[in-house]
Amino acid sequence: PLVLGIETSCDETGVGVVRGTTLLADAVASSVDTHARFGGVVPEIASRAHLEAMVPTIERALKEAGVSARDLDGIAVTAGPGLAGALLVGVSAAKAYAYALGKPLYGVNHLASHICVDQLEHGKLPEPTMALLVSGGHSSLLLAPDITSDVRPLGATIDDAAGEAFDKIARVLHLGFPGGPVIDRLAKEGDPAAIAFPRGLTGSRDPAYDFSFSGLKTAVARWIEAKRAAGEEVPVRDVAASFQEAVVDVLTRKAVRACVDEGVDHLMIGGGVAANSRLRALAQERCERAGIRLRVPRPKLCTDNGAMVAALGAEMVARNRPPSDWELSADSSLPVTDPHVPGADHD
Ligand code: ATP
Ligand code: MG
Ligand code: FE
Repeated sequence: PLVLGIETSCDETGVGVVRGTTLLADAVASSVDTHARFGGVVPEIASRAHLEAMVPTIERALKEAGVSARDLDGIAVTAGPGLAGALLVGVSAAKAYAYALGKPLYGVNHLASHICVDQLEHGKLPEPTMALLVSGGHSSLLLAPDITSDVRPLGATIDDAAGEAFDKIARVLHLGFPGGPVIDRLAKEGDPAAIAFPRGLTGSRDPAYDFSFSGLKTAVARWIEAKRAAGEEVPVRDVAASFQEAVVDVLTRKAVRACVDEGVDHLMIGGGVAANSRLRALAQERCERAGIRLRVPRPKLCTDNGAMVAALGAEMVARNRPPSDWELSADSSLPVTDPHVPGADHD
């Protein structure tokens, strides 16, 4: 199926076009530079930027894909979770296009999309899929027997998300926003073993698949504070490398353990933090050692984009899932267990 996907849950206006599991176009307009001045995403600015970028980005994606809107088999849009006002811009646009063109509308889950996008890279997902979802707002281990209808959480963060921790530490180090990419870059020149930062929830009595990053965040901030108070220079590269190592060590350790415990022979990693080079390398190393096949999309498909929404929409069409109805609205806290928002009457 030929599907167009629209993503506006945060600060990226993403529009993608896919045919089945083949990526045809991935157009993204970001308002991140505007938000960077405020040190975080400003919801009002994001909504306004989506409104301005929406139609040009849809046109750009269709042109890039070399298809006509008339040929689409469906239009998919992120219905949640995310910023309410930002989501609403995408949902309204998707409804307008779908209604005008007479195409089925699919309101899909942003988190399931972060997983399903890997079909564009590595083909159909295995069933069940074991996924480590690590992004700006979420850090979870998920087991999905069917990514279009059945997603089960094995564990999740009990406080901060992994991406949130990267962003907060970058702020303490005065590195700007978003923090993940900068820390990733600086860490390459630092020593990951320079400072022993705590690994949250890794004790023998701790829940096996839950995460905690707020203790780590506090430990790093205190360590930096002590250096500054003593009038010493903060070794930014070593702090970045040691902090990053603490995060990816726990993420990969728990993800591999989940695969072994559940008898699953592969691991998918999705979400913005999956773009992290050290996470990718350590996951590869540990998966290989455990005989697990690793699936991580290219970095551009890990951070928010429209192709991931189109990928999940295409899977919905392929599996005959019921479309959404014209009353579809944005749900800022749509649970990960709802891969899409079916219409009330499934005529
Ligand atoms: P969610 O998907 O939970 O709704 P989101 O959509 O805001 O949140 P994503 O776009 O999936 O989040 O990911 C953004 C996050 O990924 C940010 O916290 C950012 O710092 C982090 N990130 C991006 N690139 C990297 C990287 N190379 N290393 C570490 N973190 C990264
Ligand atoms: Mg973003
Ligand atoms: Fe996201």
